[in-house]
Amino acid sequence: MLGLGFLPSLAQDAPAVWEVGTEPAFPPFEMKDEATGDLIGFDIDLMKAIGAAAGREVKFISLPFDGLIPALQSKTLDAAISGMTITAERAQTIDFSRPYFKAGLAIAVKEDDEAIKSFEDLAGKRIAVQIGTTGADQAAQVEGATVSTFDAAPLALQELLNGRVDAVVNDLPVTLFAITEANLQGIKIIGELLTEEYYGIALPQGSEDAAAINTALGQLIQDGTYADIYRQWFQADPPELPEVAPALSSGTATGLNWAQLFRNLLRGAWVTIILTVLSFFFGLIGGALVAFALISPVKPLRLLCRIYVDFFRGTPMLVQLFMIYFGLPALFQGLGFDISFNRLFAAVLALSLNVAAYLAEILRGGIQSIDRGQWEAGESLAMNPIETMRYVIFPQAFRRILPPLGNEFITLIKDTSLAAVIGFEELFRQGQLTVATTYRAFEVYLAVAVVYLVMTSLASIVFKRMEAYMDPINRTKTVKPEPITPVAST
Ligand code: GLN
Repeated sequence: MLGLGFLPSLAQDAPAVWEVGTEPAFPPFEMKDEATGDLIGFDIDLMKAIGAAAGREVKFISLPFDGLIPALQSKTLDAAISGMTITAERAQTIDFSRPYFKAGLAIAVKEDDEAIKSFEDLAGKRIAVQIGTTGADQAAQVEGATVSTFDAAPLALQELLNGRVDAVVNDLPVTLFAITEANLQGIKIIGELLTEEYYGIALPQGSEDAAAINTALGQLIQDGTYADIYRQWFQADPPELPEVAPALSSGTATGLNWAQLFRNLLRGAWVTIILTVLSFFFGLIGGALVAFALISPVKPLRLLCRIYVDFFRGTPMLVQLFMIYFGLPALFQGLGFDISFNRLFAAVLALSLNVAAYLAEILRGGIQSIDRGQWEAGESLAMNPIETMRYVIFPQAFRRILPPLGNEFITLIKDTSLAAVIGFEELFRQGQLTVATTYRAFEVYLAVAVVYLVMTSLASIVFKRMEAYMDPINRTKTVKPEPITPVAST
C-alpha cells in the first residue's frame, strides 16, 4: 500500500503485498532474532501463514505499540499484528479479525515481595506498564497508585527489576516468557489472571482485507497449522477460540476532551520547564568547569575533558539516557550495590551531562575568541588573571556566548521530550498518553507542538532581551530620561 501505491496501477491485479505493523519488543509474539536480526515470534509466523494462505506477501513494519492504531486510522498500514487485545473501545476506531490468541493480564512483583498478593493490594503502590495497553488501562483503575508508562513491556519489567516500582501489569504470556525463557530473575507472577483477553489482527475500519484474513485464519485453525505454530512457541496445545471476541471492555472510546487535554498539557509543560531549568543550571556549572579545564595548562585534565565532551556530543542523548537510567542501576546491582536513583535525578543527570558538553565548548570558544591583547591590557593595569577574567574577558566573552547559549537552551527544551522514554510525564508523554486513549493523534500532537513552540518562543524572546541589554550601544539608548554615558565610577 505504501511504496508506489499512489501511482495508477498498471496491472489490474490486487496488490500482492500486505504491509503489517508490529511492535517488535513483545516476546514471544514479536521480537528480533538476536543472531540474524530478523523478526520472529508467534504473531510473525501466524501472519506469514495467513499471507501464504491468502496468496499475499507480508511485509512487516516496526512501529511503537501506541503508534499502531493511529497508523491504521490513517491507512498507512494494511494491518497490524502485535498481541493486540480486542476491546470495545478500540473497535470503535479500527476493525479486528476474529480472535487468534487467548491471553490475559497478570501482575508481576519482585520475588521477595510478600505484600502484594492480589489486585487490591496494588492500591497506593508504584506500577510500571507499557503505554497504550490494556495493562495501562487496568493500572489506571488502581486507587492511589503511581503509574509509570514505558514504550515497551521489557522496559517496564526492567523497572521492576531495578526496584523503582513495586509491580508490573502486563500480558501474562509475555511476562511468563521473560521469566522462563529470557531468564529474567528475581521476578514472580502473583495470583490469578486479572482479565481474560483475546488478541486480534487489527485492520483499518472498513478494510477490504478483513474477509481474506478471517478466511485464511479459519482455514489455519481447521487444518492444524495454527496448532503447530502454537505448539512451537508455547509447548502446549492451543485452547479453543471463539469466532467473535466477547466484548471485554465495556468502555466506549473516550473522545477528545479539550479541557482535559489542555490541563494535561499544562501539567506536562510544567514538568518540561522544571527539567529544562534544572538541567540547564547544572549543565552551566558543569560546562563552565569543563571549559576552564579545557583551556587549563594541565594536559591530562585537558585530555580528560576533551574525551568527556566528545563522548557526550558524539553519542545520541537517547542512548545516554538509557545508559544512565536502565544501565547504571543494573551495573551497580551486578556489582553488589543496591542502588537505584529516581527518575528526576536520572533525567536531570543525563540532560545536564549532555548539555554541559555543549556549553563547555561554547564557553571555551567564547573565552578564547577574546583577543590576547586584552589579557596584556589587564596585566598592565596590575590586575591578576582572575580579575582580568572577571572584569575584562568575561563581560566581552559573555556577549558572544549569549546567542549560542540561547540556542542551547531552546534545544534543551525540545530534548527534554526524550525523558518520555523513561516514563517521565513531561509534555510529549502527556500527549502520547492522551493519544493512547483517544486515538486522535493529529490534533493532540499539534497541540503538543504548539505548547513547545510557545515555550521556545518565550525563551528566545528572553535571550534576545538579554542580548540587547548586554549591548553597550543599545543600553545607552534605552537609558532614560537623560542620556548618561555608562562610565564606571572608578
Ligand atoms: N495485549 C495488550 C494490549 O493490547 C498489550 C499488547 C502489546 O503490548 N503489544 O493492550
